[in-house]
Amino acid sequence: MHNLAYYIFLRKQIPILIGLSLGPGLAYVILGYLHGIYKPALLWYLLIIFFSLWSLRVYKNFKAGEMSSLQIKKWYRELSFLYYGFFGIWLLIFFLYIGESSSNLHYIAIYTEIGSSVVAAAMLMTDKKLFLPVLSSLMTPLAIYFLLIGELYGYILSVFSLTLLGVLIYSCFSGSALFKKVVEQASHDMLTGLFNRQYFTEFFQMMLNSLKESSKFSYLLLMDLDHFKIINDTLGHDIGDKLLKKVSERIIENIPGGDIAARLGGDEFVVTGSEFSDLEKCRESAKDIADTISGSLKEVYVIDNHHLYISVSIGISIIHTPTHPSMDIIKQADIAMYEVKAKGRDGSYIFDNEMLKRTERHLSIEMKIYNAIKNNDIFIKFQPQFNRDKKISGLEVLARWEDPQWGKISPSEFVPIAEQTGLIMEMGNQILESAFQSFREFHDQGIYIQKFSINISRRQILSIGFYEDTMKMMKKYLTPELILRIRLEITESTVMHDLDRVLEIMSLFQKAGITFSMDDFGTGYSSLAYLKKLPIDEIKIDKQFVKELMNNPRDREMLKTITEMASIFNLSTIAEGVENEEQFNFLLDINCDQFQGYYFSKPVYAEEIKKYSPSDFVQK
Ligand code: C2E
Ligand code: CA
Ligand code: CA
Repeated sequence: MHNLAYYIFLRKQIPILIGLSLGPGLAYVILGYLHGIYKPALLWYLLIIFFSLWSLRVYKNFKAGEMSSLQIKKWYRELSFLYYGFFGIWLLIFFLYIGESSSNLHYIAIYTEIGSSVVAAAMLMTDKKLFLPVLSSLMTPLAIYFLLIGELYGYILSVFSLTLLGVLIYSCFSGSALFKKVVEQASHDMLTGLFNRQYFTEFFQMMLNSLKESSKFSYLLLMDLDHFKIINDTLGHDIGDKLLKKVSERIIENIPGGDIAARLGGDEFVVTGSEFSDLEKCRESAKDIADTISGSLKEVYVIDNHHLYISVSIGISIIHTPTHPSMDIIKQADIAMYEVKAKGRDGSYIFDNEMLKRTERHLSIEMKIYNAIKNNDIFIKFQPQFNRDKKISGLEVLARWEDPQWGKISPSEFVPIAEQTGLIMEMGNQILESAFQSFREFHDQGIYIQKFSINISRRQILSIGFYEDTMKMMKKYLTPELILRIRLEITESTVMHDLDRVLEIMSLFQKAGITFSMDDFGTGYSSLAYLKKLPIDEIKIDKQFVKELMNNPRDREMLKTITEMASIFNLSTIAEGVENEEQFNFLLDINCDQFQGYYFSKPVYAEEIKKYSPSDFVQK
């Protein structure tokens, strides 16, 4: 099938052809009338009118965005008949007037053939299925006519006619080659040779129209390379470009015949095209292709002596209701792809409605959170931490949010969203301020809290002025002695992401006497050796290990190793999520220093903390 541009070009010629036939056609009728052959001339003109009306219909029937490829094929066939017919009419007038040499009408006939041929060449040059038969059938009768004159000038004119035919055909061929090249360039991505976004959009719309007609199914794979930016930034765009080329080659090698692959820009690609009668088969194929592509892209690339590895995140949208606008289907694939990215990249998901709900909830929270921060709806609770003698040795500050409509929203849900949107800075500052305020209140009421822990997220600690602003706030509410009892909880991923900068900020706090706890320990990289480099004096064993420890010997091993290594590195340990006595006893056995969890206390309001008696706290 041709590119849409071909059809658009051919369609544009229709009004010109109508104009050139209806106008000059009248002159033939007048000439015919003057020379007594007006009846055939009139009949001939009626034919022109008939074909003009037909042409108008064909012209109108072409609706680029709404037609399926099958409909376009049908339309093209009708258009071809139309062009054959129209030029056939002009051949007819040749036969009608060529015999009328007594009234010199034969000159008109000869000129008509040459004129029509030139017009046909100009109009049909993009399509050899049209220009070859039309030009030959217009010019050959003329050459034969000259031949039949039987005189030297006739032979010469005959040869001239054939030469003209040759020239016209030659120029049509070179014109169509040029046109093809231009169209191809406009529909392909220069770098990779894959189709570009514009062609894809065109193709996809046409495909959706076909699916609507046939009630079949298809898929759309939206692919985004993982961490491509790093390669581009560290090794340069030249290598980045070469990698994109190789990636494109591998994609092409791994898609079925009926599919097309396009590059939407940057490191984003799509694959679509195959049609299925069976929905389940369609899903299976989509997943298979995604797996094959992903497997092939993961193999090593050798580019300019670099050995490169890359993975891809693929979002799949199964198209079963093609009445959806194409944008919706692309958006669905996009949602699925982001879900892959969020779950750690390198994989594929098929979009489903649960994903949509999650995304919608995510977006709503994103919008709500702004107001929540403005209205001070986010508040804090405190979860006590206990030492081996079951005395309260610390408090962890935990953020809470109760939305008037939605009720409680967990910080595990809203903190990452605030983090993504950047609202974490403002929210974090509010939390820090109320935390310091509460700490001061506890102190003023004679409650001794040895360590006061506050969670700090990645973007928060990396935000400009975080150290200065936090210190200023601390000094506003806290005595120098209290400042020394502040502990900031950060996670491994926070540190790993931007080690140097985080380290720098941590050192500043360390110099001010503030300590750090490594939160969720065991879930990430967990290299104790590298922990030594960081100014950390506590590790917080993640609740996931505590949770299963009675049933899972490997978790018990892990816990033991962590506490043993921690003591070698002189780090204190705290276990979170301690929910029962067995867990507590086991942790006691392996020399864990502190404990936090529902077994001791849930996170509570400040009032509850004040209800404890002084003897429940560790003493100074
Ligand atoms: P986290 O820092 O690991 O906090 C511990 C979480 O475990 C808290 O959930 C706490 O309520 C819960 N927990 C405590 N004891 C138990 C137990 O015995 N069993 C179980 N199953 N869970 C227990 P929460 O409050 O929902 O917080 C979730 C996460 O949200 C926190 O994980 C932390 O990463 C984040 N977060 C909470 N507050 C803040 C904050 O103020 N700032 C920042 N940046 N993040 C926060
Ligand atoms: Ca924590
Ligand atoms: Ca934790």
